[in-house]
Amino acid sequence: MDLPDALELIASLEGYLHDLRDTGVEGLPLGSVISPHKAAAPLAAAVRPSPAPPKPVVLEPSVVSVAADQGGGIKAVREELGDCRRCSLGATRTKLLFGAGNLAARLVFVGDAPGGEDEQQGIPFADEAGELLTKIIQAMGFRRDEIYLCNVIKCRPPHDRDPQHDEIRECYPFLLKQLQAIGPEVVVTLGTFASQTLLRTKEPISKLRGVFHDYHGMTIMPTFHPAYLLRNGAMKREVWADMQKVMKRLGVEAPVKR
Ligand code: SF4
Repeated sequence: MDLPDALELIASLEGYLHDLRDTGVEGLPLGSVISPHKAAAPLAAAVRPSPAPPKPVVLEPSVVSVAADQGGGIKAVREELGDCRRCSLGATRTKLLFGAGNLAARLVFVGDAPGGEDEQQGIPFADEAGELLTKIIQAMGFRRDEIYLCNVIKCRPPHDRDPQHDEIRECYPFLLKQLQAIGPEVVVTLGTFASQTLLRTKEPISKLRGVFHDYHGMTIMPTFHPAYLLRNGAMKREVWADMQKVMKRLGVEAPVKR
């Protein structure tokens, strides 16, 4: 392994250990500590090669139907979150928006925070940007109820300001558990905020997008937020290029236009 790969691996392991701590893991068994003499094997095992993309098939609704035994994990996460007041947004929100969609989704979209329209309607991505996202989802060959939609934080910040550090600190562990309960093959992070939070980086979205990133056994594809596309229509081409990579990874094809 060359130096850049080793540094990337160390950064990835560091992020993983941070996330374990965020989800309540306070320590690892002594046996899991890597001895310097045995470092090569466990580290090599930790770097799993990306699976070859499956053969493209036209998506049928049954491919993404909810499995009968799934949904219990996420129900437990929702119950643990409860009528949350862990951060100050608990006092200003009118609705807590946990997420919506297929609890066994192969594909999840994660935005930053609910907006005013979302809060009013009680579902994430209910505004104009959400309508554009729905069109993107349909162009990929999915119905909106076949995928899952959520945000990094579950309550609307006052005046739709950016979420603050303490709000993310309290809410992010629930997002991680939520994603782990669903277990999607691909998570699309929408915009700078969601992408930087999950990938624990300050890199701009323009550098993060278009490339798959490993995330707790799932795969993240960062792309531009649909609200940004409403202001910068020229960037739709980039987002579609990113979504085509996601479709290839999932083995789905865009529906034929008639
Ligand atoms: S934003 Fe998250 S942590 Fe804060 S009150 Fe809402 S659910 Fe709880």
